[in-house]
Amino acid sequence: MTNNGSDPYSNVPDAMKAYASLGWSVIPLCSCDHSGMSENHRNNCSKPGKAPLIKDWTQRSVPSDEIIDEWVRQRPNLNVGLVLGSSSGIVAIDVDGEFGEELLQKWSNGDLPETCEFTTPGGGRRLMYATSFGVKAKKYVEIHPSKPHEECALLGDGQQTVLPPSRHTNGGLYKWKGGRSPWELIYHPSQNG
Ligand SMILES: [Zn+2]
Repeated sequence: MTNNGSDPYSNVPDAMKAYASLGWSVIPLCSCDHSGMSENHRNNCSKPGKAPLIKDWTQRSVPSDEIIDEWVRQRPNLNVGLVLGSSSGIVAIDVDGEFGEELLQKWSNGDLPETCEFTTPGGGRRLMYATSFGVKAKKYVEIHPSKPHEECALLGDGQQTVLPPSRHTNGGLYKWKGGRSPWELIYHPSQNG
């Protein structure tokens, strides 16, 4: 396995198992170029690299290694997603553009605890925060009035986020920021095997 900067998990199956070991409710997403996906999927999916491949994914709990192996056996090029909201206890904040950064400062009053964070190949960043289990977190978004790609969004119940090291349709990788990966902030693979 090659080391991807600060991220010891450079392939999706290994990363999925490591996330599951943190108690994260990961799910399989389709591949960014739809390679390895069924004809039915390719004909019906409008979000390559971002669409869940299992039913009832909002209710999924943490998968076992055996389930992950089966997902990978069926769809070798899959991306990895994370269920958000009250069932997983994690919410995400999506920050795009200068306007998104301004909104984030406004929402947080500049008080943003250090947390897991990754960059998206579209140019934004995504921060993840723990929330209380059972507390509903509905999507909330503010978008720049004339620049629709500049926004700040809280992602929660009924939603999921793509996670590193998934690949985007533009060819780029989702990447943990140095010092902000779960392996550095929560779990240390070198100490735990
Ligand atoms: Zn798809």
